[in-house]
Amino acid sequence: MILQMKPLSFDMKALEPYISKKTFEFHYGKHYATYVQNTNDLIADTPMQDMDLMSIIHHCAGKPEYQSLFNNAAQVFNHEFFWNSLTDDAEKRQIAPVLADKIVRDFKSYDDFANVLLQTAVKQFGSGWAWLISDNGVLKVVSTANAMLPMGKGIKPLLCIDVWEHAYYLDYQNRRADFIKIVIGLLNWQFAWENYNKGV
Ligand code: MN
Repeated sequence: MILQMKPLSFDMKALEPYISKKTFEFHYGKHYATYVQNTNDLIADTPMQDMDLMSIIHHCAGKPEYQSLFNNAAQVFNHEFFWNSLTDDAEKRQIAPVLADKIVRDFKSYDDFANVLLQTAVKQFGSGWAWLISDNGVLKVVSTANAMLPMGKGIKPLLCIDVWEHAYYLDYQNRRADFIKIVIGLLNWQFAWENYNKGV
């Protein structure tokens, strides 16, 4: 099937002044659009043209001959996950009580969690992603390089933050930490809760 760009759940101006419309015009309208186009170009006239996105990613993972397709397809997944990890809706930023308890259990406190997420995102060398995951029910923060996503038995991503420079350079230049601190306040915990409750 031909992949379609997934719409943002908010207006491109909705997160201003924290993330600008201009950033979304480039990040969503150019970078993400290119990953979708590249993936469609690379699956055309192959058996993968009938697969859904996650099946393409699994099919290509770890296979050198499919490295380019893996990178592009994984970037489509990661970007759609990131768009959904952001919200302009204050209600969706509230953490479900069960999830809040698990954050305290696994990180000691929300502030400790936020600090681990910040430090992990800042320390990811070069391009990549910072993730909150459920690893067989235990909440963890991990980072991945380039287009990689956290995969494995019992691992479910709950939220992610794009730490490629293109995610923040227009608004924050080299100040990745400033961008991460802001994004932590914009996270869509309703999306995290939905992911937590999904089957693996
Ligand atoms: Mn990006």
